Amino acid sequence: VQQIVLASRPHGTPDASHFRVEEVTLPALVEDEVRVKGWYYSVDPYMRGRMSDAKSYVPPYQIGAPINGGVIGKVIESRSEALQAGDVVLGTLPWATEAVVPAKALRKLDVEGVPAHYYLGVLGMPGLTAYVGLMDIGQPKAGETVVVSGASGAVGLVVGQIAKIQGCRVVGIAGSDEKVRLLKDYGFDEGINYKTTPDLNAALKAACPEGVDVYFDNVGGDISDAVLQQINTFGRVPLCGQIALYNADAVPMGPRLQPLLLKRSVLMQGFIVSNYQHRFPEAMQHLTGWVKEGRIQFTETIVAGFEQLPTAFLGLFSGKNQGKMIVEANV
Ligand code: NDP
Repeated sequence: VQQIVLASRPHGTPDASHFRVEEVTLPALVEDEVRVKGWYYSVDPYMRGRMSDAKSYVPPYQIGAPINGGVIGKVIESRSEALQAGDVVLGTLPWATEAVVPAKALRKLDVEGVPAHYYLGVLGMPGLTAYVGLMDIGQPKAGETVVVSGASGAVGLVVGQIAKIQGCRVVGIAGSDEKVRLLKDYGFDEGINYKTTPDLNAALKAACPEGVDVYFDNVGGDISDAVLQQINTFGRVPLCGQIALYNADAVPMGPRLQPLLLKRSVLMQGFIVSNYQHRFPEAMQHLTGWVKEGRIQFTETIVAGFEQLPTAFLGLFSGKNQGKMIVEANV
């Protein structure tokens, strides 16, 4: 069995040298365990934080130990009543071609009518993040303007489409003209390419003539500094991600916008999706319904080959993905 381990901790932007592929032999199954063959592997921006040893809401990866994350696999051997060979399951599993784990660590997926890999995207952690961040913190109302950064990614695409379903004007910010076209195809009212727009403030003003009521922040940095200057009185800002800063050794200071946020009575709240488990049943019910009705469309960038995991992960930081970035292994 192959596994991918953390070879060393990066400072600044990580590269392939921080990962290593190894061969290992797995133990035989004991009672209540199953052997799972990895099929779809999620790569996520938060994994960058776990490569460092700074204290956070998830423990750091250990040097020499496999990276782990969301994986969809097929059960190939079982000593558990709960799962049978052939079942498609989701769990937090190591980056390994196969794993031996207790059956109770896995969730059996219903793959009738939806592609299995949707459970890593729109019907998984990113979709839930979009739902709770927008609905619980953003609280969008019909007629309001919602701006989302990182708009063409896994979370952003869902945020924009939920905001449209709520009757909002939706403006997405993304890193290429192709991505801006994708946003339009998915029903966003406007898209801004932050890499080519000469004046982001002017572009935002033009795209949001009535200001910004909700800013769903996936990226932080200069983009957020610009959007926040357009925020309306009683605006809401779900702080979801700060990917523009994840590789920074020292956090750069932006303009100090607190006086403006104070005067405009803006609510800004960070959140971690795993703290919203009580909201997941409602979120899943809505997301599943919207996907089945075709009101939410979703896309993925699926990279073939288990050994491509580090490359796919690193690609998140240079915008190589549209929608959810996933690695597919042969099963
Ligand atoms: P994405 O699918 O959006 O992939 C990352 C995208 O970020 C890239 O495609 C790229 O698109 C953009 N990006 C990369 N670097 C920069 C930069 N320097 N400035 C601006 N944009 C950049 O990832 P996810 O949808 O999975 O996650 C989006 C955000 O949400 C992340 O910050 C993540 O950490 C956060 N998150 C937070 C959760 C929570 O519980 N709070 C849960 C899940 C995700 P482009 O081409 O547009 O630059």
